[in-house]
Amino acid sequence: MKVLILGGGQLARMLVLAAAPLGIRCQLVDPAAESCAAELAPWHRIPWQALPERDDLLEWADVITFESESVPAEVLAALAARRPVYPSPQVLAKGGDRWLEKQWLQGLGIPVADHRSVQSLAELQTAVAELGCPAFLKWRQQGYDGKGQWRLHEASDLAEIWRQAEGRPAILEAGVAFEREVSLVASRNTRGEIRCYPLTQNLHRNGILICSEPQAADPLQAEAEGYARTLLETEQYVGTLAIEFFVCEGRLIANEVAPRVHNSGHWTLEGAQTSQFANHLRAICGWPLGETTLIAPTAMLNLIGRWPAEPAALAEAGAHLHLYGKAPRPGRKVGHLTLRQPDQEQLTRQRQRLQQWLEETGALPAP
Ligand code: ATP
Ligand code: MG
Ligand code: MG
Repeated sequence: MKVLILGGGQLARMLVLAAAPLGIRCQLVDPAAESCAAELAPWHRIPWQALPERDDLLEWADVITFESESVPAEVLAALAARRPVYPSPQVLAKGGDRWLEKQWLQGLGIPVADHRSVQSLAELQTAVAELGCPAFLKWRQQGYDGKGQWRLHEASDLAEIWRQAEGRPAILEAGVAFEREVSLVASRNTRGEIRCYPLTQNLHRNGILICSEPQAADPLQAEAEGYARTLLETEQYVGTLAIEFFVCEGRLIANEVAPRVHNSGHWTLEGAQTSQFANHLRAICGWPLGETTLIAPTAMLNLIGRWPAEPAALAEAGAHLHLYGKAPRPGRKVGHLTLRQPDQEQLTRQRQRLQQWLEETGALPAP
């Protein structure tokens, strides 16, 4: 099989790595100035709008997928007229716009936080008066890792925040006083087969994911899987996705959907029988999905900004280092560590120790 991947970041890199043992060949398209997947597969640095004209690439590809949510909807639709595109352009259109995404989830019966559409300073003022504080102003499109997002307090200067948000179409979301955050990663293939991974507990700092830990038997597993199955089946979704949830008073409130492989699923590379990347490829190629069960207690720590020069963690039993080949830059995800241990107690001890070490060396933001 030959897969054309739209986007050339670390998710593409890990897809290419997962494709190799399956005998799947990949090529990449990304208009960005650099691609950390380019050393592993041919990279075509062309504007998205030029892609529908590239008969050579479209004829080469058996299937097209994306790792970047910034591919314009009309480009994806034009590609879908020529080749199978998984997940579908309709899913990207809804998942890539926070307002449409909220309406979509609500329509499926999946709870979301109270929210308002905000297109002007006056609408922002009204929305804050209605929803109260804390609240989150988020751009409808293009935000990630907490970028394009402002946490509002009682004392916030709304005019200043609206200026910082450049007046872009946004939503205001009521702040959720969550007990914890979790995400469900799941895959569905072209035959309709679905596999869900164990619910993963996530810790964010300044809007950036720092740690993920799959839960062996989370009491909310069935509820989360129910929502995921509804979404996957209603959309006839093909590929891997993630749904992020807040846990509030013991129930799930959906935060957002990522119609792609997801950072909170990176632990599956060493912690699950089949990785989220392998299952994404199996799904879009029409192959049977692999087992999604947890092998042993596992956790993932992101490396943010830089990787400490002294790779002490490499000497640790049970620690698996992934560096994405990206130049260091504050707030940038440059790699991750997966920790896998025979028992939960050992895992917790190792995770706490390494997390502290990463904070001290500047590879994780301090608490
Ligand atoms: P990602 O990198 O996951 O795509 P993002 O920039 O799209 O991040 P969100 O997932 O919307 O941003 O928010 C990032 C984090 O900010 C959340 O995981 C949560 O910790 C916090 N947050 C966002 N919205 C709310 C809310 N309504 N109530 C409480 N906390 C929130
Ligand atoms: Mg997001
Ligand atoms: Mg998120």
